[in-house]
Amino acid sequence: MSGSGRINIVITEKTPCLLEPRKIQVTAWADRPLSEIVPILYLAIPRSQYAKAFNSVTFTVDGKLITVYSSGEIKLGCVLREEIALRLLEKLRVILDKAYEYYERHGMPDLRLLEARQRLNPLEIYKHLPKTNCKGCGEQGCFPFAVKLANGEKTLRECTQIQQPKYSDNKTYLEKMLQPIRLEIDML
Ligand code: SF4
Repeated sequence: MSGSGRINIVITEKTPCLLEPRKIQVTAWADRPLSEIVPILYLAIPRSQYAKAFNSVTFTVDGKLITVYSSGEIKLGCVLREEIALRLLEKLRVILDKAYEYYERHGMPDLRLLEARQRLNPLEIYKHLPKTNCKGCGEQGCFPFAVKLANGEKTLRECTQIQQPKYSDNKTYLEKMLQPIRLEIDML
């Protein structure tokens, strides 16, 4: 990655949204390639999706989909007005800056972390839950909870049992798998 400091993002294209023509679809570009920080974003943003073929990562900010490509291109989901896109891009810029700071301090993340995160699925989560089926999380049992945890509808904090000291290893493992990197940003 060339240069350091604050990343700038500019909107380069606005087109009508295909499904909802009253909204706009926004394309923007960062002022530099983002290939080094795409894997960091994937590991730091819960429920993000990584596309290895494009080295891109997709996640939501304020409920809106954002895809960040290694080239520096950024695609936003459809929004009603440009001000909304600008607000989202400002939040994204804070996240990118933090990811870049992480890269400068720690370098690229270990590929094994990426592989482990990609393997994370409900069954793998279930194996590390207490498996008491106590329903303390509001689900019918640990497996339905694991499914919801994997797709982001639940958080690990909602499992009442795993907070007990006897499950601390399981809790640490799952926390590490669900969010291997922490960028210390409130919105994540
Ligand atoms: S609270 Fe935890 S242990 Fe109890 S059913 Fe839910 S996931 Fe399982």
